[in-house]
Amino acid sequence: MPKGAKSLQDDRKKQNQMRSDTKELRLSGDAKIARIRFLTDLEDFEWAYFHPVLASSRLGKKYTKEIYCMLQDGGDCQYCSNPETSAVRKKIFFWVYVYGVYHLKPDSESKWQKVEYLGENYYLETVNEARVLKTGPGKDGYIETRLLNWGKRFKTLCDRDYDWCREGTKMEDTVYDLVPVDEGKTDLSEEIKKVVENLQSISKIIDLTKPPTAGKSQGSDSSDENPPKDLEKEIEEIFS
Ligand SMILES: [Zn+2]
Repeated sequence: MPKGAKSLQDDRKKQNQMRSDTKELRLSGDAKIARIRFLTDLEDFEWAYFHPVLASSRLGKKYTKEIYCMLQDGGDCQYCSNPETSAVRKKIFFWVYVYGVYHLKPDSESKWQKVEYLGENYYLETVNEARVLKTGPGKDGYIETRLLNWGKRFKTLCDRDYDWCREGTKMEDTVYDLVPVDEGKTDLSEEIKKVVENLQSISKIIDLTKPPTAGKSQGSDSSDENPPKDLEKEIEEIFS
């Protein structure tokens, strides 16, 4: 068991570092396609149930915070016992390397290059870094089935690039798809191999979504009920 103020500060620093290192792949606005390479394979991806809980930021912006359901760890879950928050969503987590994101419109600074991709005109935002792909199972399990079927067909998810595509504009009509690129099987670049060596485990990332009291003796410290504002903000930025 760690002891003393310094260990607590060090842990906080480490957690904050992990939060700032962990970016999610999110397609929103006019972003239609992300070209990705799976870094987590079929044996290693993780999934869990989360409570979507409505929260509001210090600036009054409403957002949905997804909080890990502690019942999965055999603990008590305050969100399950409240009928207003008891609904859960399944989320599946993968590390992916994102080469770039294809947008319909140019960015305000005109940094994105105009390109043709899959027969359409896009503006390419170059990313070239690892991101967490956090996805729901999709309508009728469509995305879940796609993932498993591509993995079954190629015996792995990691031997080729994929397009992660988004259709629709609003939450209600947005659908995703996962399509292997025409080039087929290709080797990992040296650059991506280096990125893989430094990845955090997916379970550590999921730990960041657990309620603040998780892992501590229940009821021993009531101040944990209200996480510090800046911590809340960090959680919001990554997981909203
Ligand atoms: Zn729960």
